[in-house]
Amino acid sequence: MPGSNHKDHMSFDKLGLSPKVLDAVKAAGFTEPTPIQEEAIPPAIEGRDVLGLAQTGSGKTAAFTLPMLTRLEKGRARARMPRSLILEPTRELAAQVHEAFETLGAKHRLTVALLIGGVSFDAQDRKLDRGADVLIATPGRLLDHFERGKLLLTGVDIFVVDEADRMLDMGFIPDIERLYKLLPFTRQSLFFSATMPPEIQRITNTFLHNPVQVEVARRSAAAETITQRVVRAPKDAKAKRAKLREVVRMHENDVKNAIVFANRKTTVGTLEKSMQKHGFNASALHGDMDQHARLRTLNAFREGSIDYLIASDVAARGLDIPDVSHVFNFDVPTHAEDYVHRIGRTGRAGREGYSATLIAPDEFKYLTAIENLLEKKIEWVGDEPAQASSDTAEPEKKTRSRGGSRKRGQSEPSEKRVKQTKPESEAKPKSEAKPESEAKPDNEAKPDADKPRREKPKDDNRQSAKPRRQDKHPSSEVKSMPNAKSFTESGHIPAFLQRPVR
Ligand code: AMP
Repeated sequence: MPGSNHKDHMSFDKLGLSPKVLDAVKAAGFTEPTPIQEEAIPPAIEGRDVLGLAQTGSGKTAAFTLPMLTRLEKGRARARMPRSLILEPTRELAAQVHEAFETLGAKHRLTVALLIGGVSFDAQDRKLDRGADVLIATPGRLLDHFERGKLLLTGVDIFVVDEADRMLDMGFIPDIERLYKLLPFTRQSLFFSATMPPEIQRITNTFLHNPVQVEVARRSAAAETITQRVVRAPKDAKAKRAKLREVVRMHENDVKNAIVFANRKTTVGTLEKSMQKHGFNASALHGDMDQHARLRTLNAFREGSIDYLIASDVAARGLDIPDVSHVFNFDVPTHAEDYVHRIGRTGRAGREGYSATLIAPDEFKYLTAIENLLEKKIEWVGDEPAQASSDTAEPEKKTRSRGGSRKRGQSEPSEKRVKQTKPESEAKPKSEAKPESEAKPDNEAKPDADKPRREKPKDDNRQSAKPRRQDKHPSSEVKSMPNAKSFTESGHIPAFLQRPVR
């Protein structure tokens, strides 16, 4: 089955799902399986371990929900001994998986218990006492129940770890290891991660038994509905903020809601103050906020009481951020995949999306990496810069011509109709006093991150900066997976990619 060449007309009927599950799939309106479903469902039904490299939006939730429903049709749960366990990094994701079980398992009459924080233990205890067929949990709350003696994990036949790399970001790896040791050796593991950093690799090597490996393409395909632009920007932080406002104001009439992404949490904080000061209805989402505060900000953004959400990749990861009309990248993400993630917040459900990315002279190399990943050039607003400054560009950059077929100086068609920005006087907010260029990326922030550092030579501060999530996305690992295949290979982009995804 894996690697089959009948992708165009693959049907759910061939995957080994039970008739009841097939009815549910039909009722949900799914006509054909997504690549991850096609690859993961048959071995999962056979009881094999599956290691899936797939992101949100790939249909991975159904890729584990559907075989689980099929397998759980036989057997009954016993009190306090769940038959299956799904681990999710956040409450929101846990709640979404719960919803998927309610929809797809509507006819199964299985007991599905959700163990997440912020809900009383009593109600959760009662559900566990009744016997749960499916337990969906975040690690902290699950272990709380376990430690209170309310839960036995020795009856778990199927263990799902979802979004493992987010678990890593959130510090849950020791919990996962502990849980694996509490589960019976014979359990089945269905393990999903968007990327394979070494820590995750280690876990899968240790705890998965001869897994079937499945990989699907990243969401770069979804970028087709997004108008992407790059804008030349100065390197100086204050001047760059002025440029950001200029770009945002060019689109002010069209912006319904927007996310402004920055690489570092110090920048996120500075941008929040700066944008508020300049009259934008903006609020930050940063890594230091607790889950509660993050949810409050997100709700305000969702309800429209905040127009501009300023976020770092880390703060945005794992959260159910609504569809937005515009994405502005104050910094170029140092990992090309993060760019795809960021712009994927717009242009969903077939709607038009717009993203603009500021490019300072020292950020050209990251743009090159993004264009290589997208396999296309991104158009410039206004004139294309002649050349990245020679001190920061990668060697191959110097020989590359940029900007595709667009002629130099040709004006940007979609920018014509927007009103021109008035020059503004930039009063300096207090928080803008410190240079930002040396601050560490959000997820690398160490206790000393905000201490002043020794000035580095001007021309190499980017090159010497540690890339964020250095251990992630090693493309060679991904490519070497035996059963790997992608949407792009098949030339087939399923319709579900155009739908909203969390
Ligand atoms: P996920 O990657 O699991 O978050 O799923 C992304 C979205 O795709 C969800 O809204 C699912 O309901 C939807 N979806 C999952 N599988 C299919 C399918 N085979 N056909 C159409 N939509 C799907």
